[in-house]
Amino acid sequence: MVVVLLGSPGVGKGTQGILISEYLHVSLISTGDLLRNEVREQTDLGKTAKAFMDKGELVSDGLIIEMIKKKIKREDCAGGFILDGFPRTLSQAESLENMFSQDNLQLDAVFLFDVSEEEIVKRLTGRRVCEKCGTVYHVSYNPPLREGICDKCGGSLIRRDDDNEETVRRRIEVYQNSTAPLINFYKKQDKLHTIDGTGKVERIFKKVEDILEGLNGHN
Ligand code: AMP
Repeated sequence: MVVVLLGSPGVGKGTQGILISEYLHVSLISTGDLLRNEVREQTDLGKTAKAFMDKGELVSDGLIIEMIKKKIKREDCAGGFILDGFPRTLSQAESLENMFSQDNLQLDAVFLFDVSEEEIVKRLTGRRVCEKCGTVYHVSYNPPLREGICDKCGGSLIRRDDDNEETVRRRIEVYQNSTAPLINFYKKQDKLHTIDGTGKVERIFKKVEDILEGLNGHN
């Protein structure tokens, strides 16, 4: 299955993406994570991308599309994949359609998670991520047992460079301008499923699961 996760930064795409990938046994591709790896490894792509990421702006379509093309050709994506954070512009969505037709793939579903702006700002400014294993915490909604230390691996918890309030607000604005038009794009294809992204993670996932089950029943 091929699934796209849509919604502003902070709506829970990453969290739901992990659950969906475990449920469907397919790879999860997060362009944000791929880019953060490039930044960590100080590659040319990472150096170019970091300046945009720190300001909450999008990295150029050309660079992102190349990165995705390489990734979905890999063997671990042969059985399908989930895209978190891609496509983010109409041009990326159109490139994805071309990749699908070249590789004889088809998009099964797009999940749009809906959360209010104020809630998103609270979620992202309080988010902390384990430097070592990537586990995500929140200073008040989901704090670690020991402040600043990951419960799972003992790694240090850090705040992403782009999770300060000013950059978060800019990221939401960029989402509204560049990514929100994709809602109509996928609605027209009859692929869009809108889900309330507030409340318990398990409850949200249950709604996703019900929709996936329905789709499987049709196939
Ligand atoms: P995320 O982890 O999805 O919030 O992404 C973090 C940052 O990476 C974004 O604010 C962008 O700067 C960059 N980024 C991630 N995915 C894309 C994409 N599909 N197109 C352009 N920039 C992206």
